[in-house]
Amino acid sequence: MIIVKTIEQTREVVRGWKAEGKTVGLCPTMGYLHEGHLSLMTASKKDNDKTVATVFVNPMQFGPTEDLAKYPRDLERDCRMMEAEGVDMVFAPEAEEMYADDFCTFVDMTGVSEGLCGRSRPVMFRGVCTVLTKLINIVCPDRMYLGKKDAQQLAVVRRMVRDLDFDLEVVGCPTVREEDGLAKSSRNTYMNPEQRQASRVLSRSLRAAQDAIAGGQTDSGQLTRLITKKLKEEPMSDIDYVEIVDGLSMQPVEKVRDGDLVAIAVRIGTTRLIDNFIVGDPLIETQQS
Ligand code: AMP
Repeated sequence: MIIVKTIEQTREVVRGWKAEGKTVGLCPTMGYLHEGHLSLMTASKKDNDKTVATVFVNPMQFGPTEDLAKYPRDLERDCRMMEAEGVDMVFAPEAEEMYADDFCTFVDMTGVSEGLCGRSRPVMFRGVCTVLTKLINIVCPDRMYLGKKDAQQLAVVRRMVRDLDFDLEVVGCPTVREEDGLAKSSRNTYMNPEQRQASRVLSRSLRAAQDAIAGGQTDSGQLTRLITKKLKEEPMSDIDYVEIVDGLSMQPVEKVRDGDLVAIAVRIGTTRLIDNFIVGDPLIETQQS
């Protein structure tokens, strides 16, 4: 596995691969890897000749009061995990390599990026779209792998790729969960044991909504009230949002249909957790789609 820190070296390696006609998959991450990240790399390896993973805690997508400084980092551990996974190249730049002092160009979006997480984290999607545009331009992948755990991010990136004619396929990978249902996240490490126990309420509440939908409930208001009630049964939970939106536009719906997104964001202590399911999909998926 090649580990590189510079854009130029990354380009050089990819140019060599492309000259040999190899296809390239890109798995962008902020590191501190877990099985959720590794599942993207497994999917990429299956579809492509070469897999590039990036590890970059992108300062542009963090607000001034968010957790940029304390975001967990351990590149050596990440590299061991990626090597075992069979990743071909890791691009792990410093912030200075990605952003010149006078950097002033951004990729921004309206609509899809404005509700849900975009409301409480107003700079996030501009940061995500800008850094992914740069990573796509650096790696020139045939396919890019993103997790459905960050469902709005996936919708935002799919829209950006369509609107700006990026020549690549975006592949959404199922959410990987802990045994008790909690979606895996690098931020789960912030929680103490009591908070970790309390965090089970997220998947439990979504499961209740899935059961209600399976039982014939289609009213979005009733479903969001049900989820809110379930979340509030846990005293440590502090709800950011509970929303049901169209799976592509991220706009609220009144009647719930297959393909809609049921999404929640909840603080447990100071840790902000998100989770979701697509109506019609199982909460625990086994198939990539
Ligand atoms: P992050 O390092 O949190 O920016 O995540 C990098 C990529 O991994 C994103 O596309 C995430 O959606 C994806 N990802 C994070 N957690 C999970 C998970 N539990 N299951 C599947 N994909 C995930």
